[in-house]
Amino acid sequence: MKHIYFTAGPSQIHPSIPHYVQMAMEEEILCMSHRGEAFQKMFIDTRLSLKKLLNIPEENHIFFIASANEAWEKIIENTVQKHSYHLVNGAFGKRFFQIAQELKKHPAAAMVADGESFDFSSIKIPKESELVCLTHNESSTGVALNMNHVHELKKRYPEKLFAVDTVSSAPIVDIDYSLMDCVFFSVQKGFGLPAGLGVLILTPAAMEKAQYLEKKDINIGSYHNFPTQLKFALKNQTPETPNVLNIYLFHKIIQEMLQKGIQNIRKETDEKAKLLNEYFETNQNYEFFVKKPENRSNTVVIVKTPESSTLMIKRIKEYGFVLGKGYGPYKDDYVRISNFPSHSLQDVKKLVQYL
Ligand SMILES: *Cc1c(COP(=O)(O)O)cnc(C)c1O
Repeated sequence: MKHIYFTAGPSQIHPSIPHYVQMAMEEEILCMSHRGEAFQKMFIDTRLSLKKLLNIPEENHIFFIASANEAWEKIIENTVQKHSYHLVNGAFGKRFFQIAQELKKHPAAAMVADGESFDFSSIKIPKESELVCLTHNESSTGVALNMNHVHELKKRYPEKLFAVDTVSSAPIVDIDYSLMDCVFFSVQKGFGLPAGLGVLILTPAAMEKAQYLEKKDINIGSYHNFPTQLKFALKNQTPETPNVLNIYLFHKIIQEMLQKGIQNIRKETDEKAKLLNEYFETNQNYEFFVKKPENRSNTVVIVKTPESSTLMIKRIKEYGFVLGKGYGPYKDDYVRISNFPSHSLQDVKKLVQYL
């Protein structure tokens, strides 16, 4: 590859991917039946390895879907009869809210300005809300929520289900999967894989809610509703013919991450974030999108550029590094720089020099 992609998603592909694609061809896994033994074995081991990597309890369910967009839809359909509650601090959280509207539910929301987080101690969730929806790492603004505060909020409302979008922070963010009922990500960001695979992790409570709604004859969708996914997962299969290549690659990357150790990967992410942040803090020409340092994401850094973002991106591209534009209305004045496990410490050091 000619360039290193520091874009927020899709992003830099993990360096071992070409090798694993070759292996998949040689092992003929792409031609084999997804009802056969080879697939089932891989499916079992992928789920087990992910549980080990992210410290997910034994009893939680792991399902493969198409994307985070699909997770938004399935979660609303399967856990909400009427009312969801959304903490919205950017474009992705807003989309989750809109999907609830499109599915004819009655969502309510706490909204704060772009670039801000929430004062969790003052949040009051309406009595009728069945599901609380949050975006851990708002990729449009570069705000990361403090997960300890989110876990505390759940403890104040133990009877409500919680859904957390970790698309641009998995596997770096440390989640208590016994408390968070629906956690989801797609693999083209922090895992450095090709796009087209989403992962949904559920507590037994989320599954029970879907089964309850199904019994009440509420529409929970079809082949990817939670009970149907469970029925097939118990046979170590998926309802549809899945994205076998991406599941294969995901399995391989998880093995590499297990070998390296998740604590080491998280430590290295902090180290790289520190390099980027220190550069932008000491250089007066740049301005952080997120004003309060404690709210800044360590996986997506967003700054206002002295020149237009187009010019800056062009300038850095000459060194072989691709930065992302700001999101939506911020695209002309801001750049987004991702800091995922596929970005080496050495490349981040070089990037800081080129800035
Ligand atoms: C990229 C992104 C999504 C959307 O992911 P898809 O795989 O395109 O569905 C959702 N939420 C966040 C926070 C994202 O960064």
